[in-house]
Amino acid sequence: MAIIEVSNLSKSYGTLDVLKNMTFHVEKGDVVAVIGPSGSGKSTMLRSLVHLETIDGGGISVDGEALVKDGVYSKPQEIKRITSKMGMVFQHFNLFPHLTVKQNLELAPKIVKGESSADIARRSAELLDKVGLASRASEYPARLSGGQKQRVAIARALMMNPEILLFDEPTSALDPELTGEVLQVMKRLAEEHMTMMVVTHEMGFAREVASRVMFMDKGEIVEAGHPEPLFTNPQHERTRAFLNISL
Ligand code: ADP
Ligand code: MG
Repeated sequence: MAIIEVSNLSKSYGTLDVLKNMTFHVEKGDVVAVIGPSGSGKSTMLRSLVHLETIDGGGISVDGEALVKDGVYSKPQEIKRITSKMGMVFQHFNLFPHLTVKQNLELAPKIVKGESSADIARRSAELLDKVGLASRASEYPARLSGGQKQRVAIARALMMNPEILLFDEPTSALDPELTGEVLQVMKRLAEEHMTMMVVTHEMGFAREVASRVMFMDKGEIVEAGHPEPLFTNPQHERTRAFLNISL
């Protein structure tokens, strides 16, 4: 079953049509790499899924429940419940600078309530261990490298037990020698069948880890499919041109 279902999604900023009738779905366990030139609408699409952007038309459903249908949004508490199934990891980490690593992880679960502090602490310890940062729990973000910050951000997103993780260029702000440690964590999540959508310029990662690749240009999905055929034999001139400069 499709866990994310997007139909005829459209969005404009003034006269600029940023997303034009996008239709796609994501299956449970899929790792979808979203590639495409700067300004093609990748971030706007991803942010629309978690209602950080409001769309003008079309629909988004998660787990069979409509976040928005024919351009009409569900009630606020429904939106909250549906979007809470997704965790988001941003290019610039977006950690809280005045909180320690452990506090960054535990803030949202504590606000949501309903779970004991002991359970939350156990999970934050497990997740920090999972991303290789168990020893940095009491550190403030400023004392971490970019790669470590992004691994904290991934652990923080996992604290809410999301069914889907969305990544918007998670390694684009990192020095090249730090991208590997972040991609490694993401690869491990993929192996554990975490459903993920990853906007990325890392073509090696897309090719190796993604189950599907979606190429966007000018607010449209130009081509989508399994990585190998898409990378070795793209069907569209625009895809070919983009891959020629990116590979
Ligand atoms: P990408 O992530 O693929 O680089 P974006 O989704 O960030 O693309 O942007 C798509 C287009 O929408 C770009 O032309 C960008 O300038 C424009 N855009 C993005 N956000 C805004 C905004 N808040 N107001 C006006 N235009 C925007
Ligand atoms: Mg972007």
